[in-house]
Amino acid sequence: MSAMLLNKEKWPEFVGKLAGKNLWVPRADGDVISFAPAAEGEAPDLEYSNSRVPPKQAVFPQTETLFRFKVEGEDLEVPQIEDQIVLLGVRPCDARAMTIIDKLFSWDENDPYYLKRREMVTMIGLACTEPGLNCFCTSVGGSPASTDGLDLLIVDLGENYLLEAVTEKGEAVLKDTADLLDETTDDPIQQKEKIIKEAEQKIKRSVDPEGVPEGLPRLWEDPLWQRVSASCLGCGTCTFLCPTCHCFDIQDETEGFESRRCRTWDSCMFEEYTLHTSGHNPRATRRERTRNRINHKYSYYVDKFDVIACVGCGRCINLCPVNIDIVNILGQVKEAL
Ligand code: SF4
Ligand code: SF4
Repeated sequence: MSAMLLNKEKWPEFVGKLAGKNLWVPRADGDVISFAPAAEGEAPDLEYSNSRVPPKQAVFPQTETLFRFKVEGEDLEVPQIEDQIVLLGVRPCDARAMTIIDKLFSWDENDPYYLKRREMVTMIGLACTEPGLNCFCTSVGGSPASTDGLDLLIVDLGENYLLEAVTEKGEAVLKDTADLLDETTDDPIQQKEKIIKEAEQKIKRSVDPEGVPEGLPRLWEDPLWQRVSASCLGCGTCTFLCPTCHCFDIQDETEGFESRRCRTWDSCMFEEYTLHTSGHNPRATRRERTRNRINHKYSYYVDKFDVIACVGCGRCINLCPVNIDIVNILGQVKEAL
């Protein structure tokens, strides 16, 4: 696959060439960054550490209409997903996360809504040169320049961006913007390797998942779950903002004679998530719910799909209002084992 250089002065022009293709960019609103469709002439600033809401929302919306129907017997109306989406500035952990949830949405049944959007998306990534305080991607199979799930990777080399195509879609982006790009020599590639090695060394948090997937079932009744969940508020932030969390609920909404069936993000940290109509709840307290969250990511998903369902983005640590820290929990798991 090819690699080219883009001088930073040409960045707005480069973005302008992608603008006709339903371009989504990271945008700051105060200190909150989230991905949103680009406004006309908007060239995103790539000097950000990561978005608060992961870009999964572009392919797995927080609320999505599955179909509309009329109470009095008209045909179903299923929304068509036809638009291309270009996601620009996706961090490598979030792109890797998408390959992890792909496995779920194409497992026992193919999810046509999710898979159609995935097919329509071109993912342009941005390598991390300044990892966040709680990033630990290198512990769980990632790296600040991982290309898993990406079509094109951008690396900030200072005066220039290095653009490396990973897939045919990435090659197509290079072709469409060829008049703005310069050839690379070996030098920028070596420069990239040095920058990424330095970025890896800046990652201060780590976990060692060796033995955790097989060991977690032995800790089912361990007192650690009471300890690590004692302060949990059950707010669901850790799961709503996690790039690999994918649970949803489906509901019908009716207004007059018009109705729609929609799905919305749900969270296993909510009490109602497992509440049976009988009133019984198999995960009645936050102890069981926290145990499930960790087991799901570090044991069940590994059993089923052979990959840990955590990419070490650090969001759940950064944003938990009571500072519950998954790296710390995994440290306690290792100790207990
Ligand atoms: S973000 Fe923290 S307090 Fe909220 S549900 Fe998750 S662990 Fe509990
Ligand atoms: S569990 Fe936490 S660190 Fe892991 S991917 Fe989800 S939000 Fe990121």
